[in-house]
Amino acid sequence: MDRLEQSHLIINAAKYIQYGLRTAIIAQHTQLSLKYLRSLVKDITGKSAVSGQNITIPRLFKSKRDTIACILFVSIYNKANTSQHRQVDLDLLIKAFDCFSVQVSQLESFTHNKTMLSINDAWVLMNGYLNQIIELTPCCCGSVVVTSQVFELDSRCPFCAHFTPHVVKLITA
Ligand SMILES: [Zn+2]
Repeated sequence: MDRLEQSHLIINAAKYIQYGLRTAIIAQHTQLSLKYLRSLVKDITGKSAVSGQNITIPRLFKSKRDTIACILFVSIYNKANTSQHRQVDLDLLIKAFDCFSVQVSQLESFTHNKTMLSINDAWVLMNGYLNQIIELTPCCCGSVVVTSQVFELDSRCPFCAHFTPHVVKLITA
């Protein structure tokens, strides 16, 4: 890697850090080491990098409202996504997150709780979706239901409460 590429990588990493993305996620998407990224966090934010676990996929859907937020985020990301890559595009994730935040701020039912879906949660969500750990299945009401062949998720539609049987359970029953 030449100096220019290296500088480009560091500028991008700095942008991701400012958005609050975890160093472990940034390290997966750049060729920068965790050690380097942690020192970059300290330079940029003046604080040590927060080490902690990412949210688990089932916890993303713990309430009807959370599920609706996830469906909204996936649809925003998908609309802008033109690649078939299974890897989350961090620049696209950030753009989708900005758009999502604007849309959510306009929805009255979401404005009471600002702690919903963080940028790191959005990464877990898209990583799960792009790797087909979770899927969006059309519901008869015209919306979608979140289903998974890996995790036990509530398969009721968050909009009309229609129950969509799990695909695997249907086959193995
Ligand atoms: Zn429905």
